[in-house]
Amino acid sequence: GLTTEQAKALFERFRELIDSHAAELTELDAAIGDADHGSGMQRGAQAAAEAIASADTPAAVFKAAAMSFISKVGGASGPLYGTAFLRAAGVQPQAAEWSAEDLRAALHAGYDGLKQRGGAEPGDKTMLDAWQPALDALDSGGDLQAAAQAAAQGRNATADLIARKGRASYLGERARGHIDPGAASSALLFQALAESAG
Ligand code: ADP
Ligand code: MG
Ligand code: MG
Repeated sequence: GLTTEQAKALFERFRELIDSHAAELTELDAAIGDADHGSGMQRGAQAAAEAIASADTPAAVFKAAAMSFISKVGGASGPLYGTAFLRAAGVQPQAAEWSAEDLRAALHAGYDGLKQRGGAEPGDKTMLDAWQPALDALDSGGDLQAAAQAAAQGRNATADLIARKGRASYLGERARGHIDPGAASSALLFQALAESAG
């Protein structure tokens, strides 16, 4: 489940993980994009960690984080993460605490929002390729650690794919052999979740 404090810890941990992996995210994006994923995510995660301070429900935390990503991160990933967090917030908008089921439903709503907003499918070499295996792990009874591991495996597997959405799609076969930056940042999100929630 997820208390308000755990939701805040999630976004504080996400900020730390993004900061410590910013150079790596930028390198991944330099290979198949425009080298701004590290700096963009740092801006978003920093703004989110500040904006959640006064939130008093898990939904308010996710909503504040969503607004931060939408307003601070240019490019594809800001609106996508923003949409995911906003949709997640909408599942239990009032509850003081989310059960494990609420959290799973919120993550599903976030994933559906990502798909709808970006028009991508799993296998298109995007952040969906980290989210989808993570949700599969939860749906088959795995815990958040299992979800984070599945997200990391999904991230690694994007190296074998060519991109069908986003900037990397212009590269065709040349994108193969490189991990997708958005899948890498999404794996960090699931890691932060596993380290913060119960
Ligand atoms: P930009 O490409 O605009 O510079 P970022 O570098 O911040 O944006 O983010 C790039 C990441 O966004 C990609 O690695 C991919 O994971 C994700 N992405 C791009 N387009 C889509 C899409 N249509 N659906 C899902 N994810 C996408
Ligand atoms: Mg980029
Ligand atoms: Mg860009």
